[in-house]
Amino acid sequence: PFSESETLKRVKPSPTLAVTAKARALAREGKKVISLGAGEPDFDTPENICDAAIKAIKRGETRYTDVDGIPELKAAIVAKFKRENGLDYATTQVSVSPGGKPVIYNAMMASVNVGDEVIIPAPYWVSYPDMVLLAGGTPVFAVGEMADGFKLKPETLEAAITPKTKWLILNSPSNPSGAAYTEAELKALGEVLKKHPQVWILTDDMYEHLIFDGFKYTTIAQVVPELYGRTLTMNGVSKAYSMTGWRIGYCAGPEPLIKAMSKIISQSTSNPCSIAQWAAVEALNGPQDFIPERAAVFQKRRDLVVAGLNACEGITCPTPEGAFYVYPSIEGVIGKTAPSGKVIMTDEDFASELLQTETVAVVHGAAFGLSPFFRISYATSEAVLTEACERIQRFCASLK
Ligand code: PLP
Repeated sequence: PFSESETLKRVKPSPTLAVTAKARALAREGKKVISLGAGEPDFDTPENICDAAIKAIKRGETRYTDVDGIPELKAAIVAKFKRENGLDYATTQVSVSPGGKPVIYNAMMASVNVGDEVIIPAPYWVSYPDMVLLAGGTPVFAVGEMADGFKLKPETLEAAITPKTKWLILNSPSNPSGAAYTEAELKALGEVLKKHPQVWILTDDMYEHLIFDGFKYTTIAQVVPELYGRTLTMNGVSKAYSMTGWRIGYCAGPEPLIKAMSKIISQSTSNPCSIAQWAAVEALNGPQDFIPERAAVFQKRRDLVVAGLNACEGITCPTPEGAFYVYPSIEGVIGKTAPSGKVIMTDEDFASELLQTETVAVVHGAAFGLSPFFRISYATSEAVLTEACERIQRFCASLK
C-alpha cells in the first residue's frame, strides 16, 4: 500500500483550498453559496498582455527556454526593480519560476538545512510554514497583534532570532491581514536585522500594487541598503496584472542564491511556460495605468466590507492598507450559541456555522496562525460583497 514520505507527513494540505472545496460541494447541492475564500483578482488579464502571448505563439516561442527565465523577461524585471523600487540588480541576480509560490519554495529548498529556523510573522500566508517544513527547516512564529495592525514589532523579531535563524519572511501588504509596513516600520526591523548577520530576508511583495489611501510602498532592500546582500526580493505578475493562471513569479537577490535556485529548477520544473514569460514581458514593460484604476476599485470594496463587518454584533474589523483581504476579530462572538445549537468556541466553529447557516465561505484564522479571526477575500463584485455582509450580519444577530 502507498505511504507518504516522512517529509510529506509533516505537511498539511492548503486550508484555503479546503474551504473552497467545501463551498463548491454545497453549491452542487443547489445552495446559493458566496465564496469569499479564494485569493485571486476577479479582473481579466489586460488585452495587450494576452495579445503578446498570442504573438509569441505565432512567432514560434514554444520551446524550452533558459531554466530560470528568458533574457528579455529578466531585463524587464531588472527595469521594474529600478523603476518602481529604486533597486539595482543585474540580470544574473534575477530568477523566474512558475508563480510566486515556487520562487519561495525554491529559495527554501536551496538554502535551508535540517534544524535551521525560519521566522514567519503571524498571521501568515498559509504556504510559508509548510514550505519550510518540506525543506527540513523549523518554522518559528512571531505573532503580531491587531492593535499593531498585525505587523511584526522590532522587539518581537529580536526575541524570535536565535543563532539557528536562517530567514525572516516578510510579506507586505500581507495575505491574510492586508497590513503593509511603512518605511519607518521597515527601517525599525532593519535595525534589529543589522545586528544579526546570519539572518537572510525573503520579502514577498506580491501585493505591492494593491495599496490604498495613497500609501507609499517601499521594500526592505530599498530602505535598508545594508541588508541588500542578504535579501531576496520576490514578486510576480499574478495579483498586480490579474495573471494568476499564467504562472509567472520572480525574484532578485545575491547571485550565489540565485544560482542555487537555478540548480533546483533545472532538476525539477525546468523553465516556466515560454508563452507566459512573453506575456509577463509585456505586463512589466507595457502600460501600467490600469493598475491604480483597479486598486481604486479594490479600495471601494475594502471600505464596503470593513463598514459591513463592523456593523456585525461581536465583530471588529480593522482597515488594512492593501491587498484584497480583511482579517476581522470575532472575539465578541466566542462563547455564543449558533441557531444549530452549537456553541462557537473557535474561529473554525464560526466559519463552519456561517457556511452551514448562511452559505458564506470564509477562512478561519487558525489557518493563518492567529485566532480568533477570519479572512475575507473581497476580490468580487460590490453586489456580492453587500449580500455577503448582510448574511454575516444576520448570522451574528442570530447568535445567542
Ligand atoms: N505570496 C502570497 C502572499 C500570496 O498570497 C500568493 C498567492 O496567493 C503567492 C505568494 C503566490 O502567488 P502565485 O500565484 O504567483 O504563485
